[in-house]
Amino acid sequence: MNAKNSKTETDFINEDNIWDMLNETESPSEALVKETIAKAKEAKGLSIKDTAVLLQNTDKELDELIFQTAKEIKLHIYGKRMVLFAPLYVSNECANDCAYCGFASTNSDLKRKTLKMEELAKDVRAIEDMGHKRVLLVYGEHPKNDIDWMVETIKTTYKTKSGNGEIRRANINCAPLSVEEFKKLKEVGIGTYQCFQETYHKETYKKVHRGGIKRDYTWRLNAFHRAQEAGIDDIGAGVLFGLYDHRFEVLALLMHAEQLEKDFGVGPHTISFPRLEPALGSEISYNPPYLLDDYNFKKLVAILRLAVPYTGLILTTRETAELRNELLEIGVSQLSAASRTYPGAYADPEFDRPDVQQFCIGDNRSLDEVIYDMLVTFEYIPSFCTGCYRLGRTGDHFMGLAKTAFINRCCLPNALLTFDEYLEDYASEKTKKAGRELIKKELAALPDKEKVSCMLERISAGERDLFL
Ligand code: SAM
Ligand code: SF4
Repeated sequence: MNAKNSKTETDFINEDNIWDMLNETESPSEALVKETIAKAKEAKGLSIKDTAVLLQNTDKELDELIFQTAKEIKLHIYGKRMVLFAPLYVSNECANDCAYCGFASTNSDLKRKTLKMEELAKDVRAIEDMGHKRVLLVYGEHPKNDIDWMVETIKTTYKTKSGNGEIRRANINCAPLSVEEFKKLKEVGIGTYQCFQETYHKETYKKVHRGGIKRDYTWRLNAFHRAQEAGIDDIGAGVLFGLYDHRFEVLALLMHAEQLEKDFGVGPHTISFPRLEPALGSEISYNPPYLLDDYNFKKLVAILRLAVPYTGLILTTRETAELRNELLEIGVSQLSAASRTYPGAYADPEFDRPDVQQFCIGDNRSLDEVIYDMLVTFEYIPSFCTGCYRLGRTGDHFMGLAKTAFINRCCLPNALLTFDEYLEDYASEKTKKAGRELIKKELAALPDKEKVSCMLERISAGERDLFL
């Protein structure tokens, strides 16, 4: 599956540089931290060394200033809009032996399952029936599940419809591919290609990746370069926190982003920050060597918002409802909701299945509950928008638009339109009532309210999939 045919494979993560930066910024003065926060307020991002300063701060009062600034930047760039999606696990069969994952090849207690196309369609329909329009397809890495099979699963996802439901954007989380394989993903119309380095620390990387292709650090590190070579300019980076020092990981992740900017003019479209969750058969997942507590996790999210203000930050249901509520304000721009972590899960009435799932879920609320309790109550507008991707506004084009604050003028109306579709087709009465009031309020503040108002009327009359 992974024929190594890329032009280049380089290791651009310089560990000594990272440690130098961390050493030089140890115990930063109040003046330096304040100066760095002031720089961040311009919403132009921070250098890696500036980011190190904030990560090294231990003064809680200054942390409050970091949180406050993250809130301001978030509001300024994204407004009160939150993109929603659901992960869909297509296969838990995997030939790699990652010490932290329930799908590891050596975990003989896990029941293995690769969805047949009709089973996948069942899961897709169940997700559509909730009201989701965006999925993240998740795959283990197994030789029997090759690229042509993957392409088939993506085609099946797009062509499966249920009532007014359809998947308008399928993002992919799978093992690194060759350029030729990435080209096939591009052709079939994927949204974001997501792949987490897990840890950028080489020694730890070798230790936790005990077998399989994934042991090759550089092959994984260059996955986004190969994706770019294949024309996929929408990529999602991430780190699995708990494996190594989170300060090192954040700086290395930014180093990765910087390299992509340098080579392709655009960094990651999104960043994810999963924390290790208990997984069947994985000792390390119950006892993370570098446990990241809630406070430092929250701080890390806020610092990322300051460092890369225009990069989407994704929060999953690994975290509890309480913590997710808090992180919303601080910088997160995309949320998974009503997630299940095993193949066939959405068509399965049971949802706690340690024998097949990848890890435990922290937030088990339904999509409607997330929308009502977490978003509408705090006047956040849920968005199922897929407009940019479908109009080709991706990669550097998207970043350019974002940088000129277009995101608010275009994304906010689209959020309202897709939220209105959700209210028409899927919401509970309670959510419908509160949601309609929220839309009315937001509409009044829009620059082109007449146009959006007309589009909302068309949705009431039965039209769907309207976007700017
Ligand atoms: N097999 C592909 C790969 O490894 O890139 C993609 C699928 S894997 C299921 C998706 C992600 O789940 C991994 O990149 C890892 O960060 C995360 N993950 C694995 N085990 C986890 C655990 N115990 N807790 C939280 N996240 C975990
Ligand atoms: Fe396989 Fe990915 Fe899990 Fe590793 S993290 S065992 S590669 S599914």
